[in-house]
Amino acid sequence: MSKPEIRSCLMSIKPYLPGKPIEEVERELGLTDVIKMASNENPLGPSPRAIKAMRENLEKMHIYPDGNCFYLKQVLAEKLKVLPEQLIIGNGSDEILSILTQAYVKPGDEAVMIAPTFSEYEFAMRIMDGMPCSVPLVGEDFSYDFDAILGAINENTKVVFICSPNNPTGTIIRKKEFDHFIERLPEKVLLLMDQAYQEYVTDPEHPTGLDYIEKRYPIIVLRTFSKIYGLAGLRVGYGVAPVEIISELNRVREPFNVNAMAQAAAIAAVEDSDHVEHSRDLVRKGRKQLAEGLAELGFRVVPDEANFCFVDINTDSRPIFQALLRKGIIIRTGDIFGFPNYIRITYGTAEQNSRFLAAFKEVLEECQ
Ligand SMILES: *Cc1c(COP(=O)(O)O)cnc(C)c1O
Repeated sequence: MSKPEIRSCLMSIKPYLPGKPIEEVERELGLTDVIKMASNENPLGPSPRAIKAMRENLEKMHIYPDGNCFYLKQVLAEKLKVLPEQLIIGNGSDEILSILTQAYVKPGDEAVMIAPTFSEYEFAMRIMDGMPCSVPLVGEDFSYDFDAILGAINENTKVVFICSPNNPTGTIIRKKEFDHFIERLPEKVLLLMDQAYQEYVTDPEHPTGLDYIEKRYPIIVLRTFSKIYGLAGLRVGYGVAPVEIISELNRVREPFNVNAMAQAAAIAAVEDSDHVEHSRDLVRKGRKQLAEGLAELGFRVVPDEANFCFVDINTDSRPIFQALLRKGIIIRTGDIFGFPNYIRITYGTAEQNSRFLAAFKEVLEECQ
């Protein structure tokens, strides 16, 4: 059969490998009670207020959503102290990444990003025939090397992607070194600061990103409802940027990109500070529990400010992953990030963390 040829840049895209779904593991291995500590979701579930809002909106689902997300922008603008016109809402923050490259990246344009980091930056560049250029994080704590990032920028560079806390390492940038970096960053380069885990950060040296929207042009700060707000299944995230950038991004955005259920739930979730506080608390405890438990087994956790940790287990993580699956625990292997001897574990409830630690210990003994 003949067909038009696929755009050649699409052939360089590596398919996204999602965390294994619970149902799939239960089906394939005949298990029940599988737990997922693989995709940085919130083990407490959605905010109870969000659940209530969704129930109340069920019977309005025959009506198209508000394409402008008016009420969600209102509550976010108030919370973040920005204008509603400085916000773009996306079908997950993933969508905003591709909206961004569709608006600004021409074939041959380049983007600088760190390695390892979130795979969607590379994807967003590749779909536009742009070139990702990676600069490795340095040292056992995976620190940013801002001189190397600046050194990787050339006349074709359109975007710099900064992820902090970074996925999969959990590490952060600090204000002083970041300010110095921004001063030296060429003005025509768009700076994307992905802060999907911002709500978990406790280090006062971490910049919020929003501080720079006044000071630095062009910049876009990315946040999501998928992590602390526990709404990953609904797909809703947002970007904050100067008004001119938002109006250019809106040229690419589909008219009804954020569904009505997601809008209703997100509005309620923003206002549920109890749920956010409980979620933070759970992560603080989980971090301690896993760091101590893993230290007893002889492993060092990369210091993180997120809801997950990245751990060097000194052995190929893939057989360990498979053995943990058979015990009903899903984690992520580091090979997808170029670190096959690492695992990434999302902090769970105290019980889930204990179950992981016990299973991990058994698995290490079995695999020896
Ligand atoms: C999880 C995650 C996101 C969120 O993606 P959504 O599309 O909003 O679910 C964005 N950036 C990073 C770094 C993430 O880890």
